[in-house]
Amino acid sequence: MIIQNGKLSTEGLYVLFNMVSDLSDITGQNFSVNGSGNLVSDGKINKDKNGNQIGSKSARKYVNGLIGSTRDIKVTNDNSKSTQAGGIGNVNINADQIDNNIASMQSAGLGELTFGYGMSFLHESMHTATGTLVMNPSATTAIGDPPPTTPNAQGPTVTNVNVFRNELGLPERNHYFWQQTSTTAPKTMRWNQGGKTTTVTQGTMTPAVKQQRRGIINAILNFRWP
Ligand SMILES: [Zn+2]
Repeated sequence: MIIQNGKLSTEGLYVLFNMVSDLSDITGQNFSVNGSGNLVSDGKINKDKNGNQIGSKSARKYVNGLIGSTRDIKVTNDNSKSTQAGGIGNVNINADQIDNNIASMQSAGLGELTFGYGMSFLHESMHTATGTLVMNPSATTAIGDPPPTTPNAQGPTVTNVNVFRNELGLPERNHYFWQQTSTTAPKTMRWNQGGKTTTVTQGTMTPAVKQQRRGIINAILNFRWP
């Protein structure tokens, strides 16, 4: 994902950086990418100032299951394709789509971690054989999303990721599909937390914010020793 046409890809690095950073926050573990391009962890669980372990226990179990699996998940970044997954272990992350989800959440006062790169990766990974078998070693079909005939449904993938959100004290996704009351109405998604529902309106991340978020990646790529 980070090499395109023989060069380091800003966009691929941006996705990787955000994904690894989110996964650390979600699980409470520190992750890095080794020389073979594999996600690795030092196995330590970070603690808060009171000495309690941070992160979601269920997410930690799942991600460590992925790392320990004999099957790999290959993550790609192709912004001309939607965020999607399948097969034994193929996940594509569309950074424009995830950036827009983050901007939509932030406009409604909800945090990035709830619907950002880490949670999106975890969702997609469950659609692969690798992820499904970590969740349920005796599964015979991949964990899926609800059909369009049930626009209000949550589906098993969202339900599973909501467990992680719940353990982190984050809002839970009410349904899978963005909803629209008419073809001209804005698309919305409801999120629940502590008996309160927040309706998020689908929006876009401005070019200025997108550029600012990629600043550190560009700085690294353009760095020259003085
Ligand atoms: Zn899905």
